[in-house]
Amino acid sequence: MKKDDCIFCKIANGEIPSKTLYEDEDFRVILDLGPATRGHALILPKEHADNLYELPEDTAAKTFVLAKKMATKMSEKLQCDGLNIVQNNGEAAGQTVKHFHMHLIPRYENDGQHILWNPGESTPEELEEIRKTITE
Ligand code: 5GP
Ligand code: ZN
Repeated sequence: MKKDDCIFCKIANGEIPSKTLYEDEDFRVILDLGPATRGHALILPKEHADNLYELPEDTAAKTFVLAKKMATKMSEKLQCDGLNIVQNNGEAAGQTVKHFHMHLIPRYENDGQHILWNPGESTPEELEEIRKTITE
């Protein structure tokens, strides 16, 4: 299903032009308009899902296979030093467009970007409490 007021539905399905790196019947891979680094790309499924929780499992599986292919090709062509895969769900996690997408962010030595987090601290008790919360 497409969502009428969704910009990524329109881009993914070709109603709004984009710099397309790859397209098949399920996906379009485009260059991000506000790139973190040279070559920052987005994998967009053509079917609308707000986020990962709503994404059909077969699309989720295909997304990661495509991410592997794109990351390998981009790494070769751009000669980047590394590549981050980022996928945000919910405003608290930095999601600004509510159509599931996966970021492919090539990284270059001293590119000045900060995609990693500050490591925190934990006790064995805290980790056990969290493990129980998630699994029980
Ligand atoms: P989010 O923060 O939701 O994970 O990422 C949204 C991304 O989409 C941002 O990196 C932003 O630069 C990009 N973006 C937003 N609108 C457009 C657009 O119209 N075209 C393209 N190519 N990228 C967009
Ligand atoms: Zn959409």
